[in-house]
Amino acid sequence: MKLIAANWKMHKTPSEAREYVNKFLELYEAKQGREVLICPPFTSLCAVQETLEGSEIKLGAQNCYYEKEGAFTGEVSLKFLKELGCSYVIVGHSERRHIFGESDEIINKKVVACLEEGIRPIICVGEKLEEREAGITFKVIENQLRLALSGVENYTDRVDIAYEPVWAIGTGMPATPQDAVAVHRFIRDLIKVLNPESGMNFRVLYGGSVKPDNAKEFTKYREIDGFLVGGASLKPETFIEIVNAFKDVN
Ligand code: PEP
Repeated sequence: MKLIAANWKMHKTPSEAREYVNKFLELYEAKQGREVLICPPFTSLCAVQETLEGSEIKLGAQNCYYEKEGAFTGEVSLKFLKELGCSYVIVGHSERRHIFGESDEIINKKVVACLEEGIRPIICVGEKLEEREAGITFKVIENQLRLALSGVENYTDRVDIAYEPVWAIGTGMPATPQDAVAVHRFIRDLIKVLNPESGMNFRVLYGGSVKPDNAKEFTKYREIDGFLVGGASLKPETFIEIVNAFKDVN
């Protein structure tokens, strides 16, 4: 099933979030084969959860901490997120890695904690522009994935991966669908090599300047299992167009 996820980043107060979701639900047509996820900031999770009540749209968080509880001022555990109705958490987003210095080791701990709590992590990987230009994109992706999943077993049906080239996030310059497809294939093959006996029920999403006018082009490729959308998810009218790009795709 395709997954189209909205990452609101640090946008929308609870009242703005309610207004958005009410509008989005008016526009949204349920369709099999497509899962839609909204990831608001922590402070708007409750408002979104209450407004989504009774709909099939899923709720996710943009981050988490890996400990269950304790003296960790300012952090939010997966237990708290689960009680609020989150079924997904974005882990290792490039802004967490590069603005907040989140290491591969911390990302791995978060992935492990998500799986223990039964919350599906969306593990973000992606190369910087200089790494692409140096021709080491696949190496960077392989390293990030191996480290994020190190010591974890039987995960292939319990995680999703988002390929988000750092240079494409928030820049208005998406990867070409062909470049994205090449990385998505590489990710799928790598996970297969790492888990020869397991199922392949994870999805590889593309993220990085997906907009209503370029989304359809990506959906032509079966390797694109969905999108992680930042800027263009902030308006219900644009996010619905991206969701609907997958309307006739299975
Ligand atoms: C993101 O935040 O994950 C993202 C892909 O942002 P944008 O769509 O704005 O590039």
